[in-house]
Amino acid sequence: MDERLKYAPCGYISITHEGIVTEVNQTFLDMMGYAQEDLVHKHIESIMSTANKLIFHSYFYPFINLDGHVEELYLRLKDRQGESIPYILNGRRYEMEGVEIIDCVLVQMGKRIDYELELRSAKKQMENAYWEKDQALVKLKQIHMEIEQKQQELMDINAVLVELSYTDKLTGLKNRRFVQEKLEEQIIRYGSTQEPFSICILDIDYFKKVNDTWGHQTGDEVLEKLADILISHSLHKDVVARFGGEEFVMILPDMDVHESKVKAENLRRAIANVAWEKINITVSIGVATVTPQDSDTTILKQADLALYASKENGRNRVTHIIDLNEKSL
Ligand code: GH3
Ligand code: MG
Ligand code: MG
Repeated sequence: MDERLKYAPCGYISITHEGIVTEVNQTFLDMMGYAQEDLVHKHIESIMSTANKLIFHSYFYPFINLDGHVEELYLRLKDRQGESIPYILNGRRYEMEGVEIIDCVLVQMGKRIDYELELRSAKKQMENAYWEKDQALVKLKQIHMEIEQKQQELMDINAVLVELSYTDKLTGLKNRRFVQEKLEEQIIRYGSTQEPFSICILDIDYFKKVNDTWGHQTGDEVLEKLADILISHSLHKDVVARFGGEEFVMILPDMDVHESKVKAENLRRAIANVAWEKINITVSIGVATVTPQDSDTTILKQADLALYASKENGRNRVTHIIDLNEKSL
């Protein structure tokens, strides 16, 4: 055998038409751990398992006989230790001086199968990683949505809490805290626009008597009903608040002295004319309209002084601080 064929980088075996090995190169012997005498003059099927013999019979001989060659036949051959080694076999039939010879080239497949297995496992790992990534993304989106929902809930709760902190529990009107903040705003607005505003303080006359005669529950009902009357006589921009006890405050934006007096008088009359269930209810009202000297506290004080005058002068009446001041001049 030619030296180069002997050590060719693949196995080489020649067999007769009957399958008897006539030649085998050193590369194949080294790969399989055989010596020449182990294979030469032996049947090629002596190094095949029954299953591989079947493949050999089903594919190798029919192709060789029909086409004269066979390509990429996958086979497993037993090495000296009896281990089954995978090979790819290409074969070609020759006729030399009337004798038929079949040359076979064998390339070991072990490494390729390992590569394929590695590739397949890498692919599987990648698919798993992608799947896990997708799952994590879905979860992340869910968490994100939950956080947004919780944030919204917190904002809603916060808005409710803010509203509650400005609300009088019994009547649902705004409370003293709200009045104080609004008054500060109105004073600032007045400073920049010179648009006047007025405030009314209303105090129920002889309210203690209502409680004493009809009980605290009736007293509460009167306070609630009065709140409804005040709301029904107010505009959206007005602030209507329970200042404490049986005292109410209205902030009337854009109202000057005259308008606020008319408004307060209308309110007083409306309250007095309501068909109260058990006893008649009247209110005394003190009114003040902002002046350039006023702060949020002085305007309240002025309205309170006017209220005091209404009480002093017999109750169920309106006093504007401006009239009081003019009188005292
Ligand atoms: P005046 O005409 O001088 O204002 O007399 P008044 O009786 O209305 O005033 P006074 O300050 O003597 O009494 C106010 C009463 O209001 C005393 C208190 O028991 C009652 N009051 C305060 N807050 C509430 C409340 O939330 N519910 C009830 N039912 N009564 C209240
Ligand atoms: Mg009072
Ligand atoms: Mg009172």
